[in-house]
Amino acid sequence: MKQVFVTRKIPEKGLAILREKFEIKVWPGDIPPPHEVLITETKQADAILSLLTDQIDSEVLNNAQNLKIVANYAVGFDNIDLKTAKNRGIIVTNTPDVLTETTADLAFALLISAARRIAEADQFVRNGEWVSWGPRLLLGQDLYNKTLGIIGLGRIGAAVARRALGFNMNLLYYNRSPKKDYEKELSIKKVSLQELLSESDFISMHLPLNQASANLIGEKEFAMMKKSCVFVNTARGGVVDETALIKALKTNQIFASGLDVFAQEPLKEINPLLKMKNVVLAPHIGSASIACRNKMAEIAALNIEAVLEGKKPLNPVLY
Ligand code: NAP
Repeated sequence: MKQVFVTRKIPEKGLAILREKFEIKVWPGDIPPPHEVLITETKQADAILSLLTDQIDSEVLNNAQNLKIVANYAVGFDNIDLKTAKNRGIIVTNTPDVLTETTADLAFALLISAARRIAEADQFVRNGEWVSWGPRLLLGQDLYNKTLGIIGLGRIGAAVARRALGFNMNLLYYNRSPKKDYEKELSIKKVSLQELLSESDFISMHLPLNQASANLIGEKEFAMMKKSCVFVNTARGGVVDETALIKALKTNQIFASGLDVFAQEPLKEINPLLKMKNVVLAPHIGSASIACRNKMAEIAALNIEAVLEGKKPLNPVLY
């Protein structure tokens, strides 16, 4: 019987598909298997169902001699060494589309929360600091009629832009390739990165972490932003220079930020972001709705089922 190693307990919907046809081993607990464990546990595996917290590097891939597929339980795949997978003929799949709307919801939630200081206001009330209605109390930024710049206009970026139309926002985007269909559908304008940074009242990151996007937004880029700018990142921590972001927030170079992803996850206690009021923090929960996680589990399992039965997977990243 073919063997599947699942690196965490995912929703039953996916596990049931795998259990029916394969011998599966699920790593228990809520933290990822240590790297050495991942290497030993996957030695005989025909398939790995991995999460974005698992480094599927050359050591893992080269050690797993029977491995035919790595099915990532995410749309991003920056945790997988694609070069080694390609050399070894290992198929890599992801879970696109099913998480688009859920992640766009979170990006928009962070955008509004950071602009209207909702997390700070919640703390204020709970701390008993609310003594009177005040004309200058917790003043934020309006969204209506303002300009939103989307960096990376793919599935999620476009879904965020669609939401912004409800706020009558003016839309700009920066992407490595033009997106004519979205330009037509959303009346969104392609601009240079510099133009987007200086013109936008809100900026939302939606590009994957790759060689060209790593640290795309750093000190120079934050300096170009408006002082009233609200900066949201639900893509990957690595697309932003976090030290530069912290400096921009501390010096009020930008107004506020909403973050779901970080340079190092989970956040360490010493991370200055934890003490800052003008940032809303979420623990990488972009796709965390019940329905979305069920669908992701199902798709990841179906990708494994297809490959182990000699068929083309539904969502190949590398095939
Ligand atoms: P997508 O449809 O592939 O969109 C990505 C867009 O970024 C594409 O338009 C792509 O352009 C563009 N792009 C890629 N590299 C670029 C670069 N170096 N410079 C400029 N543009 C670049 O992906 P998606 O489904 O929208 O997901 C986007 C990312 O969101 C994922 O990769 C993942 O990291 C992140 N994500 C996070 C969460 C969370 O929980 N916070 C959940 C889901 C996804 P081309 O069309 O030219 O390739």
